[in-house]
Formats: sequence, structure tokens, C-alpha cells
Amino acid sequence: MECLACSRIDMIRANRNDFFLAELRESYVVLAANQRYYGYSILLLKEHYEHLHMLPRE
Ligand SMILES: [Zn+2]
Repeated sequence: MECLACSRIDMIRANRNDFFLAELRESYVVLAANQRYYGYSILLLKEHYEHLHMLPRE
């Protein structure tokens, strides 16, 4: 099963993600599909990890 976060990251890299807002050093900023709160955004790490404890220390 394809990971939704990785799929969105791949779309950003292919310039096909209409919700993409900005690229930061370690992450991408995208508008959330659900805009219950106007401007609600999500930060996607450039390298996706399913859980915080899986992140490398550096
Ligand atoms: Zn993933």
C-alpha cells in the first residue's frame, strides 16, 4: 500500500502538488486538503518517517 505522505512528497518533487506552499531546509509546507480553519497547513519532512522515534538523531 502506498504511503500518502510519500506520495505527496513525490508530487511536490515532480511539481504536481497544487497544495505546495514552500520548501524549507528539511521539509515542505503544504495547504491541508481540509480547510476547516482558513490557511491550515501541514509540514512534511522531506524524508518521511512513520513515527517520531524513527527520526535520526542529527
Ligand atoms: Zn511515507
